[in-house]
Amino acid sequence: MKNNLLLMIKLDNIDIQILELLQDDGRLMYKDIAKRIGVSLPTVKNRIKRLSDLGVIKKFTVIIDPEKILGKVRSLIYIQTEPSSLEELVKLLSNMKEVREIFITAGSYSLVLKVEVRSLNELGELIYKKLSEIKGINSYSHLIITKVIKEEFGASVEVNDTLFFKCDFCNSPILGKPYIEFIRGGKYYFHSKDCAEAYKERISKN
Ligand SMILES: [Zn+2]
Repeated sequence: MKNNLLLMIKLDNIDIQILELLQDDGRLMYKDIAKRIGVSLPTVKNRIKRLSDLGVIKKFTVIIDPEKILGKVRSLIYIQTEPSSLEELVKLLSNMKEVREIFITAGSYSLVLKVEVRSLNELGELIYKKLSEIKGINSYSHLIITKVIKEEFGASVEVNDTLFFKCDFCNSPILGKPYIEFIRGGKYYFHSKDCAEAYKERISKN
């Protein structure tokens, strides 16, 4: 029976408060978090370890403000592509250093990119040369970001949000207990050892 249990992990009030504090300031000390939300130090330590083990906390990092760096040009690019070209295209775009974010979308466009370059010249080069030479892109348009009003990183979380795991190999939801492996310093979730092995074989070819 145990293996058939749906893996449904919900976030509670303590998780949410910890995540909100850390999303605001990742350098907060455990003891300050404990004091702020009124729980013990070991509770905070355990919760943060659990949230990290579950992959909810991906990493502690630094956010650089692109607006502070002179000469950065950021742009949103909307791409229409055939569904059959999507996978190949995403792989190619992921490897381009100018591309900072990629979203697969449903609607008038199948992909939205956020790109960052050093000048309008470089943006022109990217849009009118590089992208136009990529096979599988049917059409695209772009907007230049002139001012950022609000930009939140991470995700908003609420009490009772349910965690969701997808297999890193076949991309479909994991309903039982995930098979976890650490590969090249990252933590990956799979349905089974088979999916993990297949994943390792796939990345070894890239
Ligand atoms: Zn799988």
